[in-house]
Amino acid sequence: MAAPAKALQVLILPGDGIGPEVVAVGEKVLLNVGQKFALDLKVAYGEIGQGCVLRHGVPLTGETLQKALESDSVLLGAVGGSDPGSQAYAVRPEAGLLAIRKGMGLYANLRPVRLMGALVAVSPLKASVVEGVDLLVVRELLGDVYFGEPRGRGKNRRREEYAYNTMRYSRSEIERVARVAFQMARQRKGRVVSVDKANVLETGLFWREVVTRVQEEFPDVQLSHQYVDNCAMQLIRDPRQFDVILTSNLFGDILSDEASVLAGSIGMLPSASLGLRGALFEPVHGSAPDIAGRDLANPLATVLSVALMFRYAFGIPEAGSLIEKAVEQVLQEGYRTADIYAEGTRRVGTREMGEKVLTKVEELFRSGPA
Ligand code: NAD
Repeated sequence: MAAPAKALQVLILPGDGIGPEVVAVGEKVLLNVGQKFALDLKVAYGEIGQGCVLRHGVPLTGETLQKALESDSVLLGAVGGSDPGSQAYAVRPEAGLLAIRKGMGLYANLRPVRLMGALVAVSPLKASVVEGVDLLVVRELLGDVYFGEPRGRGKNRRREEYAYNTMRYSRSEIERVARVAFQMARQRKGRVVSVDKANVLETGLFWREVVTRVQEEFPDVQLSHQYVDNCAMQLIRDPRQFDVILTSNLFGDILSDEASVLAGSIGMLPSASLGLRGALFEPVHGSAPDIAGRDLANPLATVLSVALMFRYAFGIPEAGSLIEKAVEQVLQEGYRTADIYAEGTRRVGTREMGEKVLTKVEELFRSGPA
């Protein structure tokens, strides 16, 4: 067990929809496991997303960003209202997400996709295809069409409306995220598939060239390339071929949602965003307004994000493993939220699932090292 160190500050941003429900579970697990590993965790709260727009007119205030920058780690729920409709881009809840990523310099988004044994039957894919899936998507998070300028809308000479975004990547942006992917591969099976659209996009060809150059620094890691359309197909056809998938912001966004199906539900997928000025942990899913406030949301993506926080922000992989093992065993015992329910299992709500995980953490901790 690690010796008590300095106080660690965690900023919690529950956000919108199911965000507060899943984060409440994540926070309990964070504090419980933190105490077990003798961490002096100090928790503070902030606003982000739709609720923040309603109260402050912006989806992220400068004060909250400052708090995030001063924290050792950030736990975020989800942002987003039920109607993306007509809001101007700057006051959309999702703009808060991009602002905190940019403000904290979070350029590498890690999305592990592992199908836990107990959930094989929940996957819509055949067991022979998905059993044993264990891959990591490393998604670039600060570039691409999400941040590229110019962006906007206009009218041409015929007064016809148009809209445009700019797909742009610089060499250093690609290099730094590629290094993260190669380093991660070293701790796994040593294989990186870099995903691009080099056959039709200049950014894709450049991405491929730069990643190939960076691989020379990691001769022990095997690199191959796939076009994004092929990768989308391969993820469903033969997902076990992948170890680390390295890709750009837009493609990573789409491919990791697709990959969530492999893990049984998007409610099972955690993420870690690492960067220049801190680290942020959040479930991959959104605010799910369709099920918000009904104790229906699966909190396990958030719980598993807390496991990643112990691993990557606090450097205590044993604490991360303890949480992951607890989740796996709770599922093995048959407890399921609605999204991963299967006949013969026991349906529980968000809060009860959290309690089951905490009980299991206690049990495993008492019975010895994770
Ligand atoms: P979503 O992830 O919120 O929901 C997609 C589907 O998955 C819905 O049917 C939902 O009920 C289900 N789902 C999601 N999380 C779940 C969970 N934990 N347990 C059980 N079921 C779950 O995506 P969406 O519907 O496309 O977007 C809703 C809002 O969330 C939008 O405003 C969108 O912009 C926003 N969004 C935010 C983030 C984020 O905060 N990181 C990510 C994606 C979408």
